[in-house]
Amino acid sequence: TPLILWFRRDLRLDDHPMLSAAAATGRPLLPVFIADRSVTEIGAAARWRWGEAVASFAGRLTGQGSRLILRRGAALPVLLSLAEEIGAGGVWWTRLYDPFSRERDADIKETLKSKGFEARSFHGHTLVEPWEIATGQGDPYKVYTPFWKALSARDVAEALPAPKALRAPETWPGSEDLAGWTLGAAMNRGAPVLARYAVIGEEAARKRLDSFLKSKVEGYREDRDFPALDAVSGLSENLTYGEIGPRRIWHAALPLAGDGATHFRKELVWRDFAHHLMYHFPHLLDANWRPEWNDFSWKIDNADAERWRRGLTGEPIVDAGLRQMFVTGTMHNRVRMIVASYLTKHLMTHWKVGLDWFADCLTDWDPASNAMGWQWVAGSGPDAAPYFRVFNPATQAEKFDQKGVYRKTFIAELSRNPGPEALAYFEAVPRSWGLDPARAYPERMVDLARGRERALAAYAALKKT
Ligand code: FAD
Repeated sequence: TPLILWFRRDLRLDDHPMLSAAAATGRPLLPVFIADRSVTEIGAAARWRWGEAVASFAGRLTGQGSRLILRRGAALPVLLSLAEEIGAGGVWWTRLYDPFSRERDADIKETLKSKGFEARSFHGHTLVEPWEIATGQGDPYKVYTPFWKALSARDVAEALPAPKALRAPETWPGSEDLAGWTLGAAMNRGAPVLARYAVIGEEAARKRLDSFLKSKVEGYREDRDFPALDAVSGLSENLTYGEIGPRRIWHAALPLAGDGATHFRKELVWRDFAHHLMYHFPHLLDANWRPEWNDFSWKIDNADAERWRRGLTGEPIVDAGLRQMFVTGTMHNRVRMIVASYLTKHLMTHWKVGLDWFADCLTDWDPASNAMGWQWVAGSGPDAAPYFRVFNPATQAEKFDQKGVYRKTFIAELSRNPGPEALAYFEAVPRSWGLDPARAYPERMVDLARGRERALAAYAALKKT
């Protein structure tokens, strides 16, 4: 009997345990993608980008003589009606670890089984399952370094090659039209602008990995902090939708000698660590991980935060980062830390305000990595940077963007002849923001020393309580 393969954030053929196992059964396979709430109710850029990933993957499946059936609605009724339509015996999928997916999937598994269907889930989204790594006492890790040591000391499962063939069912059920889902419609910015920067699909992701390992990994450790250098892999965008598998990346880097390759694997393990934390402590996503931070005098959303979102703080490295994200859907990791520190410390605004804006703008949006990153910078997370370590954006810019190349790339007002990325910002922003590249660059919104003192005073008050 046919099997339904329910694809989510695993839009690839390679390094895909569920797909390989399904192909090995010799049964007819029906790949499906469902636009349920987890797709239609996420941030605008990520929603648009997920649609691009789906389109690309549908093409891959067609190349294998298969198809991707598209359906909209709550996943359970969609799966049940599909199963009935084609007389399927079961549904298989790759596990996700965010609270919404876990609850949904557990419910679906139970209902399918109670109705006599086979329901199986597989590992595939991370290097190891979040529960596979535990301390000597069997507890989850809260600190990264011992987590890295534990993970790297064990074998990460090999990445499986793409299956040779996928057996098609005798008849295909109807599919909805991806364009009809208008996943880019909610963008209050130009999807065409983002499209210039996105690197979409399994083949492009693989090329990205190969070229990174060939020409950049050697200098990765030294160069990865300099946002003007093209020195990082860019693979987070592809990992988010499963266009490449983490184990494929791990095993490609593992045999390479040198600090660069090791450091690269360490960064990949941060992603697993974020999933480990999210799995064991789901409140990581929306509450201070350390409850004592509930008493901090965070500001909720405010006019200064709106200027931060628009890249108009007058602090060039901060504005460059926010504009980079708005235009390209990504932001360099060093700059993510700088803009997050500026919002949570100089503007004393709750990290959730920043987390939400990142979720709306990043094409590599990942609930676990985003929340871990924000709580790390804010000081409220496990294994966090202490709050009193306030990044000085001017010093950071001096150190990591000495010649101002990064700042000028994204801020038109700072150049006589602004380049395409800097100008694209004005093309992408909503008209209602009333921005004009010919206008003067804004004055500094907050004096850096005064902002730092204010943040430290609030922190001292928190410590007293
Ligand atoms: P590379 O330097 O090439 O690293 C390789 C891979 O390692 C990345 O693709 C990513 O999967 C992983 N990785 C690297 N650094 C981290 C990290 N700090 N945390 C988790 N995984 C990491 N990453 C996301 O994927 N999605 C997010 O929504 C996200 N939000 C963030 C928010 C804040 C406030 C901060 C400080 C960081 C956030 N990160 C997020 C982590 C990091 O900035 C990005 O993963 C990285 O910039 C992606 O670029 P790259 O693929 O070129 O990374």
